Amino acid sequence: MSDSTTHPAAPQAPGAETAHTQLQWQQRYATMGPEFVAAIQPSPLPEPYWVAHNTKLGQSLGLPEGWQQSEPFLAALTGNGLLPGSAMHAGVYSGHQFGAWAGQLGDGRACLLGDLAEQEIQLKGAGPTPFSRRGDGRAVLRSAIREFLCSEAMHGLGIPTTRALCVTGSDATIWRETAETAAVVTRVAPSFIRFGHFEHFSKREQIPQLQALADFVIDHYYPQCRDDSGGNPYLALLGEVSRKTAEMLAHWQAVGFCHGVMNSDNMSILGLTLDYGPFQFLDAFAPGHICNHSDTEGRYAFSEQPNMAYWNLYCLTDALMPLIGDEDAATEAVDTYRAHFQAASQLCLAQKMGLYAADPRQKALTDMLLPMLAADQVDHTIFWRRLSHWAARMDDEDFAVMDLFVNRQQMQTWQYAFESMHKGMGTIDVSARMLRANPKFVLRNYMAQEAIQAAQAKDFSVLAQLQTVLENPFIEHPAHERWAGFAPDWAASIAVSCSS
Ligand code: AMP
Ligand code: MG
Repeated sequence: MSDSTTHPAAPQAPGAETAHTQLQWQQRYATMGPEFVAAIQPSPLPEPYWVAHNTKLGQSLGLPEGWQQSEPFLAALTGNGLLPGSAMHAGVYSGHQFGAWAGQLGDGRACLLGDLAEQEIQLKGAGPTPFSRRGDGRAVLRSAIREFLCSEAMHGLGIPTTRALCVTGSDATIWRETAETAAVVTRVAPSFIRFGHFEHFSKREQIPQLQALADFVIDHYYPQCRDDSGGNPYLALLGEVSRKTAEMLAHWQAVGFCHGVMNSDNMSILGLTLDYGPFQFLDAFAPGHICNHSDTEGRYAFSEQPNMAYWNLYCLTDALMPLIGDEDAATEAVDTYRAHFQAASQLCLAQKMGLYAADPRQKALTDMLLPMLAADQVDHTIFWRRLSHWAARMDDEDFAVMDLFVNRQQMQTWQYAFESMHKGMGTIDVSARMLRANPKFVLRNYMAQEAIQAAQAKDFSVLAQLQTVLENPFIEHPAHERWAGFAPDWAASIAVSCSS
């Protein structure tokens, strides 16, 4: 691997010296050394242009006013040159893909610029790295837009996720199944470290590096693991990651989010939703739904996701064993995932039903409801939103919910049971709580597709419109009603698979 300390410095972006670009960059992960990161040189994309940007996120990072129109920022966030204080590094990791050990995987197309306001700034698609294997290091406009919109949609939903600052495009041709054009997403997260980083060093029996990585993660993101560890901070780390992962999964299942590629290299050590590829929000509620065209076995089907997260946590456990030492204690720590997932799921469902906290009565209601939703292929998002409005009056003459079902009788029985659970509570308050827990807008595949098609013709207005509704998905947005309806029939033909 190349040595980050001896590699020639990458050239600066044109105009980067101006006062506008004086940012306080830190290089936290990059200073871990050459076993962890390799310095990379820019592979410029011709004539970049802005596709999308996130002004609020830019502000929170301390970016200067007007960065979204600035040439040096456009160049730097396309990976064409550096801003003063930033650098270009790629981290190394391995992982399990679709249940099998895959060895070293990446990072083949992500370039870390450094940290701003304690957030790592990473370019995805800015060109090859020493870990690109046979890949071109690029991303296409289609996948960059999907990642940008979904990161911000998840954030708007209150689900732990990496963020997206902007997308820049270039008309350079990128070959996938057909010719497409290039784009770069700038991603933001406290850390992009994955389970696969730990597996990398552990499988190679590089124990000092494994320990340095774990210490880095604990010191920066889980300092409580040193304080309350009972002398084994690595065991405490495993427990904390299990808890965070369980919470993330509970949110995914409650909102109907399918990730699509839950390989261990796509699992964040911080419990953030990471690496948006063939993801999909459910239209009709279908537990067995498979969103990834390449997942022929259904390993990552919607209802399998909680188990797959647990499976990945076992990969992490295995990787941490040389540091933890005690196998029984490690098993106990990772197994807390189950209870955390149950508790977090119950809380999410309680909130969806307008309760303040998990309630023993909700279980019978849920057990009855989910098979009904599945049997009648009811749209998941629309059901919960209509139910939230219905709850304001719980009116027998309001058929908006019942109209979603073939078996209307059964739904009516369920609504009576729901009503009786809420007896004595103000219906307006129940409804208001439900409207804060059940989004009106999720990023359905067809919505992303419409934004992509417009953007491919250089019209970025659909993308901007979606950004507006998705960053606040719980409010009505009357001007954008069209994005709150059922998916059109053609949406069923959209096929999305792994890396693009
Ligand atoms: P994914 O399935 O997108 O999580 O990708 C698996 C691994 O392949 C990641 O570590 C990526 O860094 C790498 N990869 C994906 N696409 C490319 C590409 N076009 N060029 C280089 N590496 C890639
Ligand atoms: Mg990945």
